[in-house]
Amino acid sequence: MARRLTWCEISLGALQANLAEFRRLVGPACLLAPTVKANAYGHGLVLASKAFAEAEADVLCINDLWEASILREAGLALPLHVVGRVTPEQATEAFGLGVSLVAYDRDLLDALDAAAAGSGRRIGVHLKLETGTNRQGVGLDEARLLVRHASGLRGVAVTAVTTHFADVEDTTDHAYARLQLASFKAGLAALRAEGLPELKGDIANSAATILWPEAHLDMVRVGISAYGMWPSPETFVSATLTHRDRVILRPALSWKTVVAQVKTVRAGEYIGYGRTHRTTHDTRIAVLPVGYYDGYDRGMSNAAYVLVRGMRAQVRGRVCMNMAMIDVSDVPGVQAGDEVILIGRGGDDAVTAEQVAAWAGTINYEITTRIAESVPRIAV
Ligand SMILES: *Cc1c(COP(=O)(O)O)cnc(C)c1O
Repeated sequence: MARRLTWCEISLGALQANLAEFRRLVGPACLLAPTVKANAYGHGLVLASKAFAEAEADVLCINDLWEASILREAGLALPLHVVGRVTPEQATEAFGLGVSLVAYDRDLLDALDAAAAGSGRRIGVHLKLETGTNRQGVGLDEARLLVRHASGLRGVAVTAVTTHFADVEDTTDHAYARLQLASFKAGLAALRAEGLPELKGDIANSAATILWPEAHLDMVRVGISAYGMWPSPETFVSATLTHRDRVILRPALSWKTVVAQVKTVRAGEYIGYGRTHRTTHDTRIAVLPVGYYDGYDRGMSNAAYVLVRGMRAQVRGRVCMNMAMIDVSDVPGVQAGDEVILIGRGGDDAVTAEQVAAWAGTINYEITTRIAESVPRIAV
């Protein structure tokens, strides 16, 4: 297949170093379950999953069964845990793919039981407790009924209880998150009392894993920080205040392209659609073969800088569907074919996903997950 002119380089060393860092944080007994949904936060589902499998991962968290089929086809044998929706109609497929999954309704438990019938195997279920995020899950009373119901099913094993924080990384005030943790621990104790003394619990995302040892419990579901990014500036501040700032995260993704053309635009001319930039002096413009189709957000228009020959060059005019223009007047010697860094390190400088997110008015999570799947991911 012909090569695309924009690509991501994924550092396997960084992914593995991040997992080693989390293993150090959570200790040997806690399951380390990096989250590879959303194309591994844009890092490439199969590539990142294989890297994690070779590192310290015990389980991979995915969003739905479609990702499980891709990973199984790629030869991955690691336990897979589905945190998004599995429908009762998908029970047989779920059983065949050998995943554990999150459940919160009787229909799914019954369908899983039917799918496992006669196999002698059980499908592992994490019951989702609602603790205040009001997304997935059920209250404690409902969960109790589900546990009792499942105790009569031979194909289903409720192995754990789970929930998800609403407000850890968005603030340095963790009062609400602490209430969720307390409510979860009370729920876990109550459900253990239903004749399931071995019942496990998982609640922690990246921020909670970094900030609170008491939230690690039996498994941590680390997403963004497995890829070397902080969940937010607030989490970084909280980690610093609680003296847990020794956590070292290494961003694994670089996003690159090459210069397509260099030209001089006379003073007083316009650049791009809508004529949003007008030159004030003769300007060297480089055209890049990357645009919002690739995930280079239109918010980068007249705002972002990229790195060329180790120096910053600013985006001029609007980002187009497949192209963007940058001002290389101050970067000597730029030629067609020169490598351009959209995200990553170059020389002694860097463009971070966080910086790109600020230009686009969003968060680092959205920047890397929205790099188009058509952009190749290359392991380095
Ligand atoms: C995405 C997700 C995570 C990971 O969150 P991060 O903030 O990226 O670490 C954990 N648990 C669930 C249920 C999720 O959906």
